[in-house]
Amino acid sequence: MELEIKKNVKLADYSTFKIGGLAKYFVVVKSEDDFIVAIKWAKRRSKKIFVLGGGSNILFSDKGFDGLVIKNEIKGMEVVGENEDSAIIKSYSGEAWSKMVNFSISRNYYGIENMFYIFGTVGAAPVQNIGAYGVELKDIFYNLCAIDLKTGEKKYFNLKDCQFAYRDSIFKNKLKNKYFVLWVELKLSKKEKFNLEYGDIKNKLAEKGIENPKLKDVAEVIQEIRNLKLPNPGILPNAGSFFKNPVISEDEFKILKDKFSDIKSFPDQKGIKIPAGWLIEQVDVKGYRHGDAGVYENQALILVNHGSASQKDVLFLVDLVKKNVFDKFGIILEAEVNILK
Ligand SMILES: Cc1cc2nc3c(=O)[nH]c(=O)nc-3n(C[C@H](O)[C@H](O)[C@H](O)COP(=O)(O)OP(=O)(O)OC[C@H]3O[C@@H](n4cnc5c(N)ncnc54)[C@H](O)[C@@H]3O)c2cc1C
Repeated sequence: MELEIKKNVKLADYSTFKIGGLAKYFVVVKSEDDFIVAIKWAKRRSKKIFVLGGGSNILFSDKGFDGLVIKNEIKGMEVVGENEDSAIIKSYSGEAWSKMVNFSISRNYYGIENMFYIFGTVGAAPVQNIGAYGVELKDIFYNLCAIDLKTGEKKYFNLKDCQFAYRDSIFKNKLKNKYFVLWVELKLSKKEKFNLEYGDIKNKLAEKGIENPKLKDVAEVIQEIRNLKLPNPGILPNAGSFFKNPVISEDEFKILKDKFSDIKSFPDQKGIKIPAGWLIEQVDVKGYRHGDAGVYENQALILVNHGSASQKDVLFLVDLVKKNVFDKFGIILEAEVNILK
């Protein structure tokens, strides 16, 4: 069947932020063959390509995208290997991440449960090295296959090749917009192995009187905590945490600690991580609005769209937050959300 390339498709409809102008060309791909046809179509016409998953980590431009947006709906998931201790699950990239988590939990595979309820597709997970409650994708990553957007050739990436870091990978740096992640394999434990130290997980389990939690108990508690903290994009459009938690050196931290004794921090491989949400709270912008763009009143790390915010409105707010945080703490905040200008 021939691929249907649509024209002038509203990108706001494909982003959880509900912001974005028109994509000049737009196509949904459901197989590897579809994808190859789509990139050849773009190449013949010298059109730029943008790969779209669930649109939960994007702030599209008000001008839209002057090229071909390829919306990934390539699906399929299976266990491809297992022994006594571990199992390897493979998922095509257009599957919902939450489906991969449910698939693993239902088979009693450990290691992925703290990332329950994160939005988006499997293909975007390694791009961003998604993470939550003390676990990152890199901790369970095994292998991935990606397609070169220019040549259509396949390439395999192991853990080292992906150069994962905090909300970062080679696909956001050297290989930005150069590869399409086709499938991802994760290695999960078949032996009970929880990571309950982070956030309120332990307290919540205790509140419920659960002493020996099962995988589904942990997932349920995480969903409850997330529901309390995060706005539902279906009700209040947003793209999750807008800023990364900055990491500073121990020396810089000591200076800040002298000035701000209640400063929050976590140890990090590269220094000291400061919660960006705490920094933003200290500069009194929680609940602040510019047009329909706002700093979420219950969690300062999240920027929301109260109705018809534009990218311009959000970027105004981003600059304001960054300036205020820099003026008070000397820390430069970096966006976690992908901003397409
Ligand atoms: C309410 C809410 C809560 C969230 N909580 C978390 C959280 O706890 N932790 C966390 O890490 N993130 C969180 N996020 C952010 C988001 O869910 C993740 O970053 C997710 O991985 C994005 O997936 P997506 O398919 O929607 O990607 P998209 O937004 O569609 O794309 C994101 C980027 O990845 C690229 N991309 C997408 N698919 C592919 C592919 N197959 N190959 C190559 N590049 C690709 C896109 O080009 C784009 O640059 C949250 C978002 C929301 C709205």
